[in-house]
Amino acid sequence: MKLLLSTPSLVHAAHCQNLLEAAGIRADLRNTWLAGAMGDIPFRESAPQVWLLDDEMETQAWAVLRAAANPVPGPRWECKSCGEWHESQFNSCWQCGAPRQP
Ligand SMILES: [Zn+2]
Repeated sequence: MKLLLSTPSLVHAAHCQNLLEAAGIRADLRNTWLAGAMGDIPFRESAPQVWLLDDEMETQAWAVLRAAANPVPGPRWECKSCGEWHESQFNSCWQCGAPRQP
């Protein structure tokens, strides 16, 4: 487990987790229940956090989040295995895990 980021916004944290999961990177949300305690305990300990289940996925995780913040213009692609459609920045199918094929 590795702390990827903390943010004052639970919505932002949940959005980041969704992006990671959609890209096949397992992530957990923490401190989702502590927002009411903000002010009583230090921000770093009370803010919602996104944790990676696999430490070695950190580089890919940041690539996913950066791509989402700055969407790469490009055509959507269709998974050859299950028919699901994906935005251009994703390189594998979130539904079945198949790699993107040209
Ligand atoms: Zn698929």
